[in-house]
Amino acid sequence: MDLSTAERRFRELWGDIRDLISVGDLLEWDQETQMPAGGVESRAKMVATLEGLKHRALNAPELHEALDTCAESAPEGSLLAAQVRSARLDVDRAVKVPASLTREIAEARVGGLETWRRAREAADFDLFAGHLEKLVELRRQEAAALDPGGNAYDAMLHLFEPGAKEADLEPLFADLREKLTPLVQAVIERAPQVDETPAAGDFPADRQHAFCRRLATAIGFDFDSGRLDLSTHPFCIGIARQDVRMTWRYDPRDFRSAVFGVLHESGHGLYEQGLPADQRGMPVGDAVSLGVHESQSRLWENHVGRSRGFWSWALPHYREAFPDAPEVDVDRMWPLLHTVRPSFIRVEADEATYNLHIAVRFEIERALLARKLEVRDLPEAWDDLYEQLLGIRPENAADGVLQDIHWAQGMFGYFPTYTLGTMAAAQLFAAAGRDLGDLEAMFAAGEFQPLLDWLRENVHRHGSRWQAPELIERATGSPLAADDLLAYLRQTTEEVYGVSE
Ligand code: ZN
Repeated sequence: MDLSTAERRFRELWGDIRDLISVGDLLEWDQETQMPAGGVESRAKMVATLEGLKHRALNAPELHEALDTCAESAPEGSLLAAQVRSARLDVDRAVKVPASLTREIAEARVGGLETWRRAREAADFDLFAGHLEKLVELRRQEAAALDPGGNAYDAMLHLFEPGAKEADLEPLFADLREKLTPLVQAVIERAPQVDETPAAGDFPADRQHAFCRRLATAIGFDFDSGRLDLSTHPFCIGIARQDVRMTWRYDPRDFRSAVFGVLHESGHGLYEQGLPADQRGMPVGDAVSLGVHESQSRLWENHVGRSRGFWSWALPHYREAFPDAPEVDVDRMWPLLHTVRPSFIRVEADEATYNLHIAVRFEIERALLARKLEVRDLPEAWDDLYEQLLGIRPENAADGVLQDIHWAQGMFGYFPTYTLGTMAAAQLFAAAGRDLGDLEAMFAAGEFQPLLDWLRENVHRHGSRWQAPELIERATGSPLAADDLLAYLRQTTEEVYGVSE
């Protein structure tokens, strides 16, 4: 096969695989937003059939032949080489991991999820321990199949954050832990309580929906190419570049849950809508990693959405949407968006403590995979780390080790992407500020387009042309580090609480 034939075949075959993935995404969106409870059984069958088709397509000798030819002839650093590298992530998994193991993992995930729900309800870790042990063991086997003799945690990380290595993450997390812990301790010890009453009131759902849509539209989310629907847990799925589905939830007594949820998902959505149009259906046309995805959501949620400039612009719209809400101005509003309070539950954590929650999980899951920690010792290790990093000790397993769904689904190596994304958000925002000037003043004038254009140019349009570490370095001029995040957190904490560590 000559190169141009190989490239054409690769493009055709990959386009079909991408469609199968999109159909799966659509089923998932439907399940979370529309499907009646009775649909579960038939849906599980559809998903399994689809997975089978995808597995077969990824194992097709014709695809492998086309990929091999492309790989041999593609110049290093070329676009085609990037397509091959990115495609191989999926192909390798389909080829190297035995079908029997894949099936066993899928079954263990279903069983794991079910026992995890029961265990969490009963706050009884012992109910779940056996299943978790099995999941850890199966993932170890998968890692060994993917990279014989290699680092098991790296093999897991690779599924979510291609190119990331435990050895590179370790110093990043150590640095963050070392500098963030004293800051949080200082707040706990000395901070006066922030009066949060202005955030509490009567916020009707339809008005919250309209307000959130207005914010998402203002920052550039295109509703002709996207939707916003209710779900239990907010998420965003890019079915296609022009079909991006976001979801939201709300608290009728506090606007912050919906507003920051929607700004977060809008950040994911803007990334999906900005992926390279000319690479549609090709590996490079997809987002590069979960960490980079999270950098976009955190950037709009935190660095834009919690800024004074943003609220100078948004407050008149807020008053219009919620005429009965407590009277508030920007100076009164701002501290309500940056409160720090150590808590047990990650998803409810504030900006400053959030990454310590992740540090706990990072520490534990890599110890598990490396056999340095036994599953039965997990609750105690968890509680000890919470005490050490956040100064609080969970009273039961439901508020501790059983709170997250990830391990129950056999997802190890997923958590660090949240913190990588948060670090990258701060670093990208700082770089954009250096290039664009006074971003706060722009936000106050309702001008979000310059920042979006900057992100389109430096991040979105590249898709997965570069792996995440290279993308961040190209966009910001330096490798990913915790510095900008720490500077941002120090500054907000100092302003809200008048303390620094
Ligand atoms: Zn997110």
